[in-house]
Amino acid sequence: MEKIIDEKQQGNALVMEPKAGNGKKLMIESYGCQMNFSDSEIVASILAKEGFDTTQSLEEADLVLINTCSIRDKAEQTVRKRLEKYNAVKKINPGMKVGVLGCMAERLKAKFLEEEKIVDLVVGPDAYKDLPNLIHEVEEGRNAVNVILSKEETYGDISPVRLQSNGVSAFVSITRGCDNMCTFCVVPFTRGRERSRDPQSIMEEVNDLAAKGFKEITLLGQNVDSYLWYGGGLKKDFKNASEIQKATATNFAGLLRMVAEAHPKMRIRFSTSNPQDMTLDVIEAMAKYPNICKYIHLPVQSGSNRILKEMNRLHTREEYFELIDNIRRLMPDCAISQDMITGFPTETEEDHQDTLSLMEYVKYDFGFMFAYSERPGTMAARKMEDDVPEEVKKRRLTEIVNLQQQHSHYRTKQFVGKTVEVLIEKESKKSDAHWSGRTTQNTVAVFPKENYKVGDFVMVKINDCTSATLIGEAVGYSENQ
Ligand code: SAM
Repeated sequence: MEKIIDEKQQGNALVMEPKAGNGKKLMIESYGCQMNFSDSEIVASILAKEGFDTTQSLEEADLVLINTCSIRDKAEQTVRKRLEKYNAVKKINPGMKVGVLGCMAERLKAKFLEEEKIVDLVVGPDAYKDLPNLIHEVEEGRNAVNVILSKEETYGDISPVRLQSNGVSAFVSITRGCDNMCTFCVVPFTRGRERSRDPQSIMEEVNDLAAKGFKEITLLGQNVDSYLWYGGGLKKDFKNASEIQKATATNFAGLLRMVAEAHPKMRIRFSTSNPQDMTLDVIEAMAKYPNICKYIHLPVQSGSNRILKEMNRLHTREEYFELIDNIRRLMPDCAISQDMITGFPTETEEDHQDTLSLMEYVKYDFGFMFAYSERPGTMAARKMEDDVPEEVKKRRLTEIVNLQQQHSHYRTKQFVGKTVEVLIEKESKKSDAHWSGRTTQNTVAVFPKENYKVGDFVMVKINDCTSATLIGEAVGYSENQ
């Protein structure tokens, strides 16, 4: 399954510290990518100012917000099922109002109100600052919709409330929207054009997290390598910027260096990278700063040049290999992960074999693989027939999942016998006597708790592994502690 989607978190109701408020209770559930979870923290911050307290109980909620995902049909069906559950609860709690946020709200707009009678409020990803007004409308008995996409909105001025945080890791959003127009992907339609957040507001948020004791941040965007700040505005309008704006612009490598230098003891991660936009200076910055984690999520989607072209991925298999070779040359210990789609329209057995051989070349540490799901409005849906039979998509998916599992195991085995730094995040799922954390490569490691605590940087000697987890014992604090 998709790594950026933590399945255990899907649909979790997130809560913040209670404060004296307006007496109203908000429940906010999030589905989809990290960006959605990060957006829910912005929404919670906006509504905390309005006096809302959060709850995890539907039965006592005055307002339920569901932050939704449209990336595949299945993600939308999950949300629809959840709305059925809300409907049942509404019989016990008739005053409860329901709002739909995020990508499904943007995709379906006011149609949502017709299709799902329970929904009172529909708000797209760029309209969260309007929530207080929209909620007021709903309280007056009217339905409310705002799905306007913005050229400027980055929520840079909003300090997110950290929901269900372990106090160790946090997301920091750096770009919104996407300009890449991959033909399979609904994101450009649901999240709008690409814009970057002011580095100063990013730094303020990171400084604040560091002051609160956070040890790891993940810079978030649909395509972080495309980050470009030149004083505000859309990425696509950079060409019209003044000479001085161009000369003083900050790109992603510049931002990475800025954050890494300001907080040398903080782990810096980022997601997601797009091969067509990842430049050598980003890899050089990663290699230079030990606190930038040695892990790149580098979706490729297919190993076939013909399919990459049909997907409008704007790079070839050979260019992708060149990028991989550069990463390995500058950072031999860097982990790399993929997203892959099987059964894109017209995909042949030969194309599928190309995907398998690309995987053999890279031997990814992790992978997140999906059967193609046609999304309404995308270029592929408009121009291509979804012609690969479902059972063929599934069979190819099983083949790449199995190969990935072998490669993941190959990668974890390389750690056995080594001693690696682990940042402790939480108790292990399988044993309350063990901690669970991650290495710089993002590999999960578990080890006996002893006297260590969450947030500690610990050196762990790896004695054993599965395909997804390293098993070891602590040998002391790391020098980062
Ligand atoms: N922005 C990233 C990129 O450029 O690759 C990833 C965005 S998306 C939220 C995460 C993954 O979902 C994609 O990398 C892709 O593998 C998968 N995905 C997107 N659209 C899909 C579709 N129509 N059917 C199946 N999987 C899809």
